[in-house]
Amino acid sequence: MSKLKNIFVFFGPPGSGKGTLAWLCVKRLGFVQLSTGSLFRRHINEQTDIGKQIDFTIRSGKLVEDSVVSKIVTEWLENAAHEHSSIILDGYPRTKNQAETLSQFLSEKFSSVKVCIVRLQISDEKLVERLGKRVVCAEKSCQKVYSLIENSSHKPKQTGTCDICVGKLIQRKDDAPEAVKKRLAVYHSHENELIDFYGENGVTIEDFNAADLVERIFEKFLCRFGFSIR
Ligand SMILES: [Zn+2]
Repeated sequence: MSKLKNIFVFFGPPGSGKGTLAWLCVKRLGFVQLSTGSLFRRHINEQTDIGKQIDFTIRSGKLVEDSVVSKIVTEWLENAAHEHSSIILDGYPRTKNQAETLSQFLSEKFSSVKVCIVRLQISDEKLVERLGKRVVCAEKSCQKVYSLIENSSHKPKQTGTCDICVGKLIQRKDDAPEAVKKRLAVYHSHENELIDFYGENGVTIEDFNAADLVERIFEKFLCRFGFSIR
């Protein structure tokens, strides 16, 4: 018997707080979150046929094909549907092709499940600024993330030094303004394609202001979808 009622597809650029919002939904509401990365790793570790194929593709520096990703995800969904009423998809679907496969699969197997797009919106300028102020501990065993934004609760006590291990705080290459702009361009091209697809198919898109604190976004999420914390 399937327990599944809701699928929330999370959209939001890197640095929008999407990961933290998903984490709150998992911790406080008992949702389960799909991670394609950990599914890939599991298949690789267990050396399944599909795992061997993914391993080869990744080693060749290529992207795992849409059909392979969709196969793994739909298998996972069928199992997760027995145990969870709400599922978060983050990082899947990534292309229109994947979105089409997912819709097809859901209409065949879970036609009563409600799909909703949760979109975190924030301007590119704000994100460049936010990520530009993100630093990380250079100590390999630590890698704690800090924010240099004034009044942030993740600010290091001493500028440039990790609170935990006294390691040096550095900026990730990915977070430098030029790199962020490139990542955002890639993100927007995928997002537009997917939003168009879901718009045409009558799927609800709920927008949230990602400039808000993530706790506030979570409260709005509860309110918008009628969830409450027991
Ligand atoms: Zn550290």
